[in-house]
Amino acid sequence: NMDARESMYLVSEFAKDYFHNTLLNTEEGKAIGLSYFKERGFTAETIKKFSLGYSPETWDAFTKEALGKGYKLEFLESTGLTIPREDRPFDRFKGRVMFPIQSMSGRVLGFGGRILTNDKKAAKYLNSPESEIYHKSKVLYGIFQAKQSIAKLNNCFLVEGYTDVIQFNQAGIENVVASSGTALTPDQIRLINRLTKNITVLFDGDAAGLRASVRGIDLILEEGMNVKVCTFPDGEDPDSFAKKTSHDDLVAYLENNAKDFIQFKASLLMDEAKNDPIKKADLIRDMVQSISKIPDRIQREVYIQECSRIMDISEQVLISTLAQLIQKDV
Ligand code: ATP
Ligand code: MN
Ligand code: MN
Ligand code: MN
Repeated sequence: NMDARESMYLVSEFAKDYFHNTLLNTEEGKAIGLSYFKERGFTAETIKKFSLGYSPETWDAFTKEALGKGYKLEFLESTGLTIPREDRPFDRFKGRVMFPIQSMSGRVLGFGGRILTNDKKAAKYLNSPESEIYHKSKVLYGIFQAKQSIAKLNNCFLVEGYTDVIQFNQAGIENVVASSGTALTPDQIRLINRLTKNITVLFDGDAAGLRASVRGIDLILEEGMNVKVCTFPDGEDPDSFAKKTSHDDLVAYLENNAKDFIQFKASLLMDEAKNDPIKKADLIRDMVQSISKIPDRIQREVYIQECSRIMDISEQVLISTLAQLIQKDV
């Protein structure tokens, strides 16, 4: 429903401004939210660029304000900004710092809200629920601020989190977007594909998730994009690393450590297999599976040669395994 969607956009825009003003112009916002962002190293300019905000630590301060301004409870609830309750509906994001999630054209679709404590029991980030205007599988955080730079530099950095995007921007690298913790989806990849064919995936330096994240990258290959990957030192993510690194050193780090994805995966798998032949056979199949996703035949052939070298296995074996996976075009 078009009218309902328009009303949801309007109330989301209002919420963005409300949270931003609360952050900058109220005692509570300044003392709690603004000082949190300052501690993370965000400047006033950055806070403005990403319209960061703060939602007061009360039951329904935001909801009351919105209702007072004439926004309808129906749309406050359908956007998830307000949580329904018979007696007294309440603010979903109370007591959190706010990251508005915008579309390519800058419309506010939803929010991420972070708690300020390091209370391990509470969810660190809370996001808007799926709604008629917010489909988390179709948005990339930061795309509005990044799109020009992505097109101009013909490359897109993909990171995990909101603060990685923000810290990179502050370090002068603007061609960066985040999947916000979910596995990358085809719709998200197509958003990037409209702007560039080149993507560099930056992983948090917590090896635990690496293997799983690497699996998701086959989807990017399938879209015919060129994929590089870059890891960070143990315990660092792009945000923490950028925060303590100068612009020039950060650019140099990215240049020196970005590796072609297929070569990276081949080496990663080889490290895992060590000298176990059965494991190695599995990993070779896994590797060829990735190569089979590449639409371009010549590229596939180049990668077969590379993998043959890295994994120390004959090209013939790789080619016949590939042939089993691809019916056409071999
Ligand atoms: P910070 O630096 O603020 O602690 P981060 O971005 O480094 O956060 P990660 O733990 O690396 O956080 O997670 C990456 C992204 O995954 C987050 O930016 C957020 O979008 C999402 N995420 C993390 N934890 C949660 C959670 N508990 N619920 C929903 N989404 C989450
Ligand atoms: Mn992480
Ligand atoms: Mn992180
Ligand atoms: Mn982080």
